[in-house]
Amino acid sequence: MVNTVRTTCPYCGVGCGVLVTQKSDGAFSVKGDPDHPANYGRLCSKGSALGETLGDDGRLLHPIVDGQRADWNEALGRVTAEFKAVIAKHGPDAVAFYVSGQLMTEAYYVANKLMKGFIGSSNIDTNSRLCMASSVAGHKRAFGADTVPANYEDLELADLVVLVGSNLAWCHPVLYQRLVAAKKTHGTKVVVIDPRKTATCDIADLHLAIKPGGDVKLFSGLLAHLDAAGKMDRAYVAAYTEGLTEALDAAHEDAPSLTTVAEICDLPAQDVAAFYELFSATDKTVSVYSQGVNQSVQGTDKVNAILNAHLFTGRIGKPGSGPLSVTGQPNAMGGREVGGLANTLAAHMDFDEDSIDRVRRFWAAPNVTSQPGLKAVDMFDAVGDGRIKAIWVMATNPAVSMPNAGAVRTALKACPFVVVSDCVPDTDTAQYADVLLPTTTWGERDGTVTNSERCISRQRPFKSAPGEAREDWSIICDVAQRLGFGEAFAFGSVAEIFAEHAALSAFENNNGRDFDLTGLMDMGVSDYDALAPVQWPLELGGRRGQERFFAHGGFFTPSAKGRFLAVHHRAPTCVQDRTFPLVLNTGRVRDQWHTMTRTGRAARLTAHVEEPFVALHPTDAQRLNLADGAIARVSNDTGEALVRVALDDGQRPGEAFMPIHWNSANSAQGGVGPLSSATVDPFSGQPDMKNTGVNIKAYGETWHALVVTRDTVDLGDGIYWARAQAGAHIRTLCAGKGDGSMALANFKARLGDGEWVEFADPARGRLHAAMMADGRLVAAVFIAPKNIFPERGWIDGLFGDQELAADARRARKAMRAAPCAPVLAWASTSLFTPFKTDGSWMWKDWALCWAREPAAVRADLSFKPSWTRNSPLRTRRSSIWPSRKQGEFSLMHITTESVWSPSGSSNTLCKAQGFKPLL
Ligand code: SF4
Repeated sequence: MVNTVRTTCPYCGVGCGVLVTQKSDGAFSVKGDPDHPANYGRLCSKGSALGETLGDDGRLLHPIVDGQRADWNEALGRVTAEFKAVIAKHGPDAVAFYVSGQLMTEAYYVANKLMKGFIGSSNIDTNSRLCMASSVAGHKRAFGADTVPANYEDLELADLVVLVGSNLAWCHPVLYQRLVAAKKTHGTKVVVIDPRKTATCDIADLHLAIKPGGDVKLFSGLLAHLDAAGKMDRAYVAAYTEGLTEALDAAHEDAPSLTTVAEICDLPAQDVAAFYELFSATDKTVSVYSQGVNQSVQGTDKVNAILNAHLFTGRIGKPGSGPLSVTGQPNAMGGREVGGLANTLAAHMDFDEDSIDRVRRFWAAPNVTSQPGLKAVDMFDAVGDGRIKAIWVMATNPAVSMPNAGAVRTALKACPFVVVSDCVPDTDTAQYADVLLPTTTWGERDGTVTNSERCISRQRPFKSAPGEAREDWSIICDVAQRLGFGEAFAFGSVAEIFAEHAALSAFENNNGRDFDLTGLMDMGVSDYDALAPVQWPLELGGRRGQERFFAHGGFFTPSAKGRFLAVHHRAPTCVQDRTFPLVLNTGRVRDQWHTMTRTGRAARLTAHVEEPFVALHPTDAQRLNLADGAIARVSNDTGEALVRVALDDGQRPGEAFMPIHWNSANSAQGGVGPLSSATVDPFSGQPDMKNTGVNIKAYGETWHALVVTRDTVDLGDGIYWARAQAGAHIRTLCAGKGDGSMALANFKARLGDGEWVEFADPARGRLHAAMMADGRLVAAVFIAPKNIFPERGWIDGLFGDQELAADARRARKAMRAAPCAPVLAWASTSLFTPFKTDGSWMWKDWALCWAREPAAVRADLSFKPSWTRNSPLRTRRSSIWPSRKQGEFSLMHITTESVWSPSGSSNTLCKAQGFKPLL
């Protein structure tokens, strides 16, 4: 029986619906849900590969206390005792939860309720602080609430879409797909405002490669331009807004002329003018903004500068018009709803007296906190200086993802008590845990998430959790009960938690708060299980949520008016100087997610970008004497990284880019966290992670290596390495200093005993070695002076057990068909990338050959080096590795070096020899 489960992708804030079906072989197939309003059946590369990430290998299966396996009772007993002791001795503000936009809303809800209602501290903050806290702060300043007024459909209805600080093509790919389709059918104009020329620029009618930190100036200039051009929606502004005069004064003061804007933003004046004209002339405009806006020391002001332009033109809450903040995290919005940020209370309520009293009464909570807690950066500072003595990190990896991550590691190491709940045991943060708690993950979890357009969707389980892993909500409730708060946390299911969460949103709401789930608070378990994606707010009996906000005012400020904010450009805190002359930007790559604990399991995802890298403009690389593919040391006064150089003329000169995904589980020193600035926006507390001064120097490697293994192997310290899962085996790219043969000896020693075969090409500095065991290739090492190695797919094929077995079967079949043939079959094409030398194409092959008579093969290759003289292929050199008996035949490894090969030379070789190619 085919059993399909409707669930939600666990990655980005687009929140795509996914259909998961278990196949007859037990594996799961994944496809987009055609009925989900976020994606209508589309998925991106990450979503499509979800089925390949479901293995239980590497999962945390049991609680661990002080490095030893423990049972749940012992582990949670220890957590409770330590938290109790710290609270009793030092007060509730001496403990903290650092939670995550990966949590289900229900787990988020009980974590917030426990900390803010019962423990009595507001020290709960979330990794979403790093994602969209500036949007929250900007929304609250302008709208009086953290309201996203628009929705995804507006991207399709707009005539102009302005993407600010958003690489939509890679970071929110399904929204990008929707925009691409809209552009095709509707002719939508697209403006991209981003210092980098990213993949998103492929559809840009105009790309403004803005100098980092110039956004407030650019949008102040836009407001001044709209004013001068008479583009104010007078009726809207008069009826529904306030604060215009101050905002306009600030805009005109900040941007007195186009030239001033162009100069500060380092943009051609005509491009700025073109943007302003386009915005002026297009009523249906959507502005999408993301981490490029939020992760800034002036992130909140940037958000308000964008919102000012929309309020001024009345382009808000109407089909095809409005500002649209898109979140990185899958459930950043859910966290915002429950109060997962330290400066919000719960259900979009703040720390005003009425809200505190309301929440106290609703929860019947003894210790409702009365003021905001420590935001992420401040929280880890407090861990570091000893104010926080016990911290529980849930479903996130701050030792990698926080800015100034080196200081975060030091803080966690010094913290007297650290709890980490996660689904894997080997994160950088987990190594500091006194107690490690195994949790469920996608496919096992039950709950809801909310996407960037306020749409609540179910994540439903479709497989059982391995080992003793438990749901986050149940772990939190268990600890709450052990702390003595049993009654308030006696939930029997996620449905019960959701019902309470919905009821709190409705409690004494009377349309006074945007977040309102009145229409969902009476759902029973079966209704909850069957819940279809739905946008909030939802009034009683409402089947559909409200699609848009503020077309007719109705803001959540005391006056019910939208507020213009007077904002001024401030120079970035990162100043390029002689010590740190380059500005480092950070972000995602298309096929990875966060610290790769899930996406890193899918070979087709790791194939997109194999290594941590620093992207540099070619002029900078030349000045720094860095070749494409070389290893660079990137450093500043908080940390350093070793990464591959990637030349990219889409970078602005003087600026560099590093992805956020690598960490010490998959690289020697590929993490960008230790380098990132921890300077925060004063309103949102969001760190300025895209604007850090760094120095970049050549590492000075003398050899590069590709090491392929079946298991994870420690290849030693003092070298560059980056590891990626590639199906059933692991590819590690390395580089180091010294003699390549010493490196090979080191690798061989670490890879262990086995039957090694080696091939050396001293003229080209190449060393190849492979280890066989039981007829299987166990490890292969390729060392070369440059980072040029055999084609990955071919190597992957060699390491696949099934493929080797299939080759062997085909070889046997061929042997029966041609019993007299000395050589049975070839099972490879080229192993080496062709390269040009002396005007000729040099081509190298490494073939597997099954032969009845190995001696005949040796004779052919040894004594007839010019056997293809009249063909386009000339073999200059060949060597045969020792043959190995495999049942009825011998398996031989043959390398050939050829010139003038117009096509795959193995095939030519096979044909010339009368061999029958198998593959
Ligand atoms: Fe998942 Fe985001 Fe891709 Fe949708 S766009 S499939 S939510 S990663």
